Amino acid sequence: MKIELEDENDLDHYIICHKCHTVQEEIAISDGSKALCSMCKMPLYRYDTRLVEHGLALSITGLIFIVLANLFPLIKIEILGTESYITIISMISSLIGSGYYLVALFLLYLIVIFPVMIFSLYILLFALLKLKRAEELAKNILILLAQIEPWQMSDIFLVSILVSIVKLFGMATIHIGISFWTLFVFVLIDIYMTRSIHLGELWVLKKEIYSKKAEKLKNDTPISNTKKGVSS
Ligand SMILES: [Zn+2]
Repeated sequence: MKIELEDENDLDHYIICHKCHTVQEEIAISDGSKALCSMCKMPLYRYDTRLVEHGLALSITGLIFIVLANLFPLIKIEILGTESYITIISMISSLIGSGYYLVALFLLYLIVIFPVMIFSLYILLFALLKLKRAEELAKNILILLAQIEPWQMSDIFLVSILVSIVKLFGMATIHIGISFWTLFVFVLIDIYMTRSIHLGELWVLKKEIYSKKAEKLKNDTPISNTKKGVSS
């Protein structure tokens, strides 16, 4: 299928179906409804303003849990009567102490910086969508999120901790710390968010929210205007 585009912004009006890969024109839909693919009837996008409140609550909870995961011990190890607590920060600093600077930096980015950044950006994005303000900033946040989200790997980190716990079981007594559970909850929230709220959906939601706001502003202006724009 070939589409003639006047300029790059026209791409905003098209969407590709994930199942049959046909290009579909995007149309405005009402709140709480879904747009289906005209070929295979697969849901393409939905417009649901409740997604904003839902996303805001989830991202605030996620941020709290990842911050907590960085504050408390992940595990307590007992070897020959000596106890040691392992936290994410102590893990990074001992890596630096042993000269593994690159690994330490990688861990710092993957477990601390990226998750905190992603969830803070989500909070800001949902807050902007809720307040219907700063459209340009919301757009830039969505673009940034699309670029950094693949770097969110705390689930892999959690699995690797589990593997090391299993390996250490014969050699030492291991106690699972608070951080482990907060990290576990964080990973669950993260998985739930990536599965239930897609960035593509938020992109559509952003467009609908701001275009509805612009339409409302236009209708609210006291000056009589015969040209009312596109009627929905
Ligand atoms: Zn399709």
